[in-house]
Amino acid sequence: MTPEAGTTETRQPAGVARADELALLASLPTGLFIGGEWRPASDGGTFDVCDPSTGNVLIQVADATPQDGLAALAAASAAQKQWAKTPPRVRAEILRAAFEAVTARADDFALLMTLEMGKPLAEAHGEVAYGAEFLRWFSEETARISGRFAVAPDGRSRLMVTRRAVGPCLFITPWNFPLAMATRKIAPAIAAGCTMVLKPAALTPLSALLFAQVLQQCGLPAGVLNVVQTTSAGAVTGPLITDPRLRKLSFTGSTPVGINLLKSAADQVLRVSMELGGNAPLIVFEDADLDAAIDGTMVAKLRNGGEACTAANRLLVHESIAEEFTKRLVERMRAHTVGRGTEPGSLLGPLVDEATRAKVHELVTDAQTAGAHLALGGAYIAGAGYFYEATVLTDVPATARIMHEEVFGPVAPIITFATEEEAIALANDTEFGLVGYVFTLDLNRALRLSEELEVGMLGVNTGIVSNPAAPFGGVKQSGLGREGGFEGIEEYLETRYVGIADPFAAVS
Ligand code: NAP
Repeated sequence: MTPEAGTTETRQPAGVARADELALLASLPTGLFIGGEWRPASDGGTFDVCDPSTGNVLIQVADATPQDGLAALAAASAAQKQWAKTPPRVRAEILRAAFEAVTARADDFALLMTLEMGKPLAEAHGEVAYGAEFLRWFSEETARISGRFAVAPDGRSRLMVTRRAVGPCLFITPWNFPLAMATRKIAPAIAAGCTMVLKPAALTPLSALLFAQVLQQCGLPAGVLNVVQTTSAGAVTGPLITDPRLRKLSFTGSTPVGINLLKSAADQVLRVSMELGGNAPLIVFEDADLDAAIDGTMVAKLRNGGEACTAANRLLVHESIAEEFTKRLVERMRAHTVGRGTEPGSLLGPLVDEATRAKVHELVTDAQTAGAHLALGGAYIAGAGYFYEATVLTDVPATARIMHEEVFGPVAPIITFATEEEAIALANDTEFGLVGYVFTLDLNRALRLSEELEVGMLGVNTGIVSNPAAPFGGVKQSGLGREGGFEGIEEYLETRYVGIADPFAAVS
């Protein structure tokens, strides 16, 4: 099937932006945010940010040069000492004010995110609430940073352990969650007393720019957060990673880029957090509540258009229920309304760009060539924008690339299994280990799988696990470190131990 052969119709916009969109875009800061000031790129360069539902240019923003990147690090480095000494309550209150401000401007953030990334407005609102919640969670954690004090086992000294801010950080974030991937790093860094440079994805820098403006309005001191959007990611971030003033790198993105960044970070023995790719298995056992399993699959597969590291990439379904499961999933996915994210009722927006759409189609075609059966979709949607049909593949052979690579689109590949052992072996047959999903009403089986699956997170009878109060992160090639939860702030703290002589020695 050729990419253009699909029959699904979208309700495409005429290509003319609405007045509220134009007004929001006109109000945005478009410069680089360095040392508390908005400034153009040092060479005056700009780049286009486009609407994936039309391909039209939304706005132009400053395009940071390597010199701008170093200026941002200089600003972060200059602010670090004073910022780390700020009373925790002051840092907490800035975060709390930012939570209130983002929540109050949820409509603006959601619309902006839909415009630059394409997700339906209702999902964009979900991300705003999720992203804001990191600000509230870490505002509450700020005052709980503590150390310990102990008498040494031999009684001859005292052991004092304190927690200190790691220092200036570099954050590199992806396009799929333009606000939440930033707040998940920025909020714990502010809480811990770190300063930072953020490099958002070139496809979606607008949410980060608006967020930086909100933090500025909430009283974040100059230099604590600096934002350098750029089309030269490697050239701008490379010199920062090898600069001794930088003390921490936190990256969210693909595993190949993460591996290269880890290699660069090794030269400075940088602290690193890596939130990388996934290849999530979603396992439906014969004893599952099928309604819940279908609902969970729809969320795990189609939330964010399938463009999520947590997206269910492989549906493993017990052979006794596979036919019924497939029939019901196809019905639900066929009824999923495709359209520009701003349109009422739109449940599936465009993919973020043509390269992403081409990769999705390549994986679908490869699976068919390998012997998979196309039960739904499988084609581009004609017209403007990067729309792709909701797609279901069955009988997918283990050799198909889609079993091993993130599809990052609305494609559900189904394979069957006969036993629990087989399901576990299939699920673990990947170098990734971010998240898994299990649908079963057997408590012991769920507990067995929570121990046997090689993942950092597991959803039991649910298709969504992300929660700001829980540690998000993976094992194997899905990454290092955790974001959110009590664990999230640990990434931005280092431990200092002070040994103190026995205070009674002098008087004995
Ligand atoms: P990506 O291509 O790795 O890009 C992520 C970020 O890295 C972008 O800001 C990108 O800049 C930047 N980048 C690319 N090459 C770089 C280089 N050589 N040096 C420094 N920075 C560089 O990933 P993506 O396509 O944006 O996002 C999708 C990936 O992110 C998927 O694999 C997904 O699973 C993963 N992800 C993981 C999590 C998680 O928490 N585990 C969450 C969300 C997404 P440009 O924008 O200029 O390319």
